[in-house]
Parts: sequence; C-alpha cells; structure tokens
Amino acid sequence: MINALRGMKDLLENDGKLYKFIIDTCEAVVKNYGYEFCETPKLEETALFKRSVGQSSDIVGKEMYQFIDKGGNDVCLRPEGTAGVVRAFIENKFDRAGGVKRYFYHGSMFRYERPQRGRLREFHQFGVECFGESSVYEDASVILMLNEILNRLKIKTTLKINSLGDSQCMPAYKEKLVKFVENNKENLCDDCLRRLDTNPIRILDCKSQSCQNILKDAPLITQNLNQICNDDFNKLQEILKANGVEFQIDPKLVRGLDYYCKTAFEFISDDIGSQSAVAGGGRYDKLCEYLDGKPTPAVGWAMGIERIMEILKQKESQNTRQGIYICALNPNLIDEIYKIAQTLRKRYITEISYEAKSPNKHLNIADKKGFEIFLCLGDDEFSQGQIWYKNLQTKDEKRISIANLEGEI
Ligand code: ATP
Ligand code: MG
Repeated sequence: MINALRGMKDLLENDGKLYKFIIDTCEAVVKNYGYEFCETPKLEETALFKRSVGQSSDIVGKEMYQFIDKGGNDVCLRPEGTAGVVRAFIENKFDRAGGVKRYFYHGSMFRYERPQRGRLREFHQFGVECFGESSVYEDASVILMLNEILNRLKIKTTLKINSLGDSQCMPAYKEKLVKFVENNKENLCDDCLRRLDTNPIRILDCKSQSCQNILKDAPLITQNLNQICNDDFNKLQEILKANGVEFQIDPKLVRGLDYYCKTAFEFISDDIGSQSAVAGGGRYDKLCEYLDGKPTPAVGWAMGIERIMEILKQKESQNTRQGIYICALNPNLIDEIYKIAQTLRKRYITEISYEAKSPNKHLNIADKKGFEIFLCLGDDEFSQGQIWYKNLQTKDEKRISIANLEGEI
C-alpha cells in the first residue's frame, strides 16, 4: 500500500469542510477591505526564497523543499506566500505603474520540518499582501481584518505587536544589541552564536532559557526607534485601541523572516500547545528592492489553516453543519423529492438519496455527513402536501408544507 508522505495530510470529510469554512470566512472579510484573489505557482526558483526570506532564516537555513529539476534548474516548493506574490508584482511591472494593489491568496506551503503537533511538511496558509501603501493606517487595517476573521471563527487569541524600526534605526539598535550580548557570549546556545554573526536580532526570540537569561537587561528596540518609527508605532496602537482591539507590546517579537521592518505582529492561541502562533505578519518595505523591483512599501500577513482547524475541532459547540439532506421512504416518491431538490439547489446545498430506506438509516447518514437539515418524504406526509423536517443542529423537528418549503427553512 502506498501512503501519503511523512508530514503531509489529506483534507477529507470533516477536515475538508472545516478547511473550506475557514477559507470562506477569510475571503468574506478581506474582500470587504478591497483585497482581491491572486494565485502564484507553488514551485519557484530557489534564488527567490534565498533572497527574500533570507539566508539566515530557519526556512532557508534548514526547511527548504529544494531540488534540481530534470532541466537542471535549482527549484524549491514555496515555504511561504509573500515571496511569490512580490515576484509576480514586479514581473508584471506593477511596481513601476505605481498605485496601491491589494491581494489575498491561499494554498499549500512546504517546509521540511520535523513533523509534530502543529507542524506539517505540507500545510496551508491564507494570506494578504498590500503594495504601494506606506500609511500606518494600512498596518492597522490588516490587523483589524485578521482580528475580524478570528472573531467570526470565534477563536480567542492574544495579539502581540512590535516595531522593528527601519533601515535607519534598526542597524544602530543591532550594534547595541550585539555589544550587549557579546559580553555574555559564553552562555549563548549554538544557534545564537551563529545568529550573532548572521542575524543578531533573532537572538531575541530564542527559546533557550540560558539565552533568555542573558537578554533580561538587553536594550529594547522599542526604546531605540527613530522619530518616524516611533510615531507610526504610537499611531498603530491608537487605531487598534479606537477599534476595541486589545494587544500586548512584545519588544522581543522579531518573526522568523528577514524582510520585516516597522510593524510586526502575531496572533497567539492558548489552545494548541507549544506551536501557538496562528497568524503573523508585518511591514516589509525593502523586499521589492531586494528582488530588483522599484522601492515599494508593503504590508501583509499569513495565517496557518491547520492550526485554526485544530482549535475549531476542540470546540464542539461550533456549528459547522451545513446543507440539506433529502430522502424518501418509498421508491415511488423519488420523483417528488427530485423535484423539490432541484428547487432547493437554486439556493441551498442539497444532497438527495435515490434509495428508499428506513427513516433512521437516512437520519444516520445525514448526521454522519454533517448536514444541518434533514427532509424526509413519506406517503402520509405527501398526501397532505407536507414533508418531515429535522434540524440536526438544534434537534427541532416538525412537518412543513412543501408549497412553502423555502419560507419554512
Ligand atoms: P513557528 O514559529 O510556529 O515556526 P513561523 O514563524 O515559522 O511559525 P510563519 O512563517 O509566520 O510561521 O507562517 C505563518 C503561520 O503559518 C504560522 O503562524 C503558523 O500558523 C503556520 N505554520 C508555519 N509553519 C507551519 C508548519 N510547519 N505546519 C503547520 N503550520 C505552520
Ligand atoms: Mg517556523
């Protein structure tokens, strides 16, 4: 028997439904903010990720699904979505056209990580990217969007925000941090010793206790921002507060990728163990230039769908039931329910059973398949122009009139 590869999962049955439910919820919210669908290839030149995500990141350093194809090209399955969307933006010369573009995407990402709870090798993200807007109002908007999505999904999270400064204040801060850490070098973990040379600010979010001990009195980026970054960071907080969004400032939140500046944020859940980040993002004003485009301010985020699915699965009360199951008790009523189904299908998801069997057998099937409404036609009901109705979520049941079916449903 051939099995799926390690760390790769099928989305079937309830998982398939949940996945679609999450994507539909995300789409409904981001479209209201003017974001439009885009899709980019899952396979790209390896150089794209090396240059954008950054050589010093965990993704490029250890997690890339990289190989040489039959034509000898060095290619890589995308580990994240932003690089591809930026590549497409530049390749289509939108960077030179100016103006603002807002995109959303969803689909598979690939990272060669050790599979465990909350960590797959193929997983799915929903993400947004906005190009050409430098206003901090857009940083706030993308956070508000994500907040609205999580509210609609009824998921409780903690929002952490930080500012990573810009090309003026970040380098100065880096120097300060390196000087500070070098005095305690002997207690750093091996990863952080390497980071000290390659990307020192990533030492800040190291999970090792000895590194965190060293950092207790380290200088904080939030106290070393220049005027512009400081004003923007304050404005961001003001907009979030004005919109009733709670947040914590976390000066050690640096995010895994090299391309962020100014705003960085993460939504954390307490419900899914140690892999607790469900979504994260921030501003990346330099990335377009790194990829040979015209300087273009940009901001975006990505959400891990599987981690959201895991949270939703823990909440049994969640109504993910949907659609109508219609059936008959008698073979000569199939024509009737077929007619009814065709009417319902103009507005509702409707599955019909062409087989007459006992009401309990039908009910079991409808229940297992996750339908919300069960309609069953027997001779007795039919003679009175009625059909049996049961709501499988609320357990409410009654006879309803076939003539006024839509009104009753
Ligand atoms: P982590 O710190 O958990 O490794 P990350 O910083 O690598 O996360 P991002 O690159 O910001 O994650 O990706 C955005 C989201 O994608 C994460 O918040 C998470 O929900 C999800 N995600 C990342 N890696 C995986 C994975 N291997 N399996 C499942 N979901 C993932
Ligand atoms: Mg990671």
